[in-house]
Amino acid sequence: MNITQIRNATVLLEIGDHRILVDPMLSSPSSLAGFRLFRGQRRKNPLTALPDDVNQLIESATAVLITHEHPDHLDKSGIEWIKSRGLKVWCSSVDAPNLRRKGLDARIITEDSCDLSVEVVPAIHGHGMIGWLMGPVAGYYLAHPNEPTVYITGDTVLTDTVKSAIERLRPQVIIAPAGTANFGIGKDLMFSEAELIELAKMASGQVVFNHLEAIDHCLMTRLRLRQIMDDAGSGQQVFIPEDGERLEFDCSSDAPPVELRTSSQSTPGIQKWLTAKFAGT
Ligand SMILES: [Zn+2]
Repeated sequence: MNITQIRNATVLLEIGDHRILVDPMLSSPSSLAGFRLFRGQRRKNPLTALPDDVNQLIESATAVLITHEHPDHLDKSGIEWIKSRGLKVWCSSVDAPNLRRKGLDARIITEDSCDLSVEVVPAIHGHGMIGWLMGPVAGYYLAHPNEPTVYITGDTVLTDTVKSAIERLRPQVIIAPAGTANFGIGKDLMFSEAELIELAKMASGQVVFNHLEAIDHCLMTRLRLRQIMDDAGSGQQVFIPEDGERLEFDCSSDAPPVELRTSSQSTPGIQKWLTAKFAGT
């Protein structure tokens, strides 16, 4: 299995015969609004350009996987790119109707989509009312017989659901957002610094941290995260790839047998409508 970090949460996941483009935000720098609401430092997004060889990297994509519809995970450029190639878009039942309205070939991911074993792990993008208003997010555990198992957490805080998924599924690789996003008021919108440390300690395999240094409300840097993980004694198992960097994972040990669960995916509500509006795609 190979994971190529593209930018922010956008990665190319090579698993089995699949080359799955996850959460494509493909806009040029400064072409999206700033997300930070308070405490200054609001800047237009994305803050950084895509890697020089991005076209070559993503051209081979065979499908797309979406964790949620926020514009730093699926933007207008990403939608146009997907449409022009006619790729299938795997997503949760919450996002499928709206993605179809946007003209995408959206398919609800199930336990055996694209010959992978899949479990959808519900994620919560913040605490309290903010987390609710941010709308539902889907994490995905993916297993292929000849590949390491991988859990893409999606934008989430460290909920009991996420913790129990890590304990039960024992993914060999976890891909998690580490930007500690904050609107400038209230608690972080995804894993806080303390939660990132806890997540790395809980992980039985390796952890790939991304969603860094590309969006104005994500203040964590790669350098600081590396220091934090080294200080916490988790440096060895953690990867913090640069944009354009490709990581290779071998199936050196068999994945632990697990029984996948069908989660009750939440139904779209007012918060889904709000975040779709906010997304503006
Ligand atoms: Zn995000």
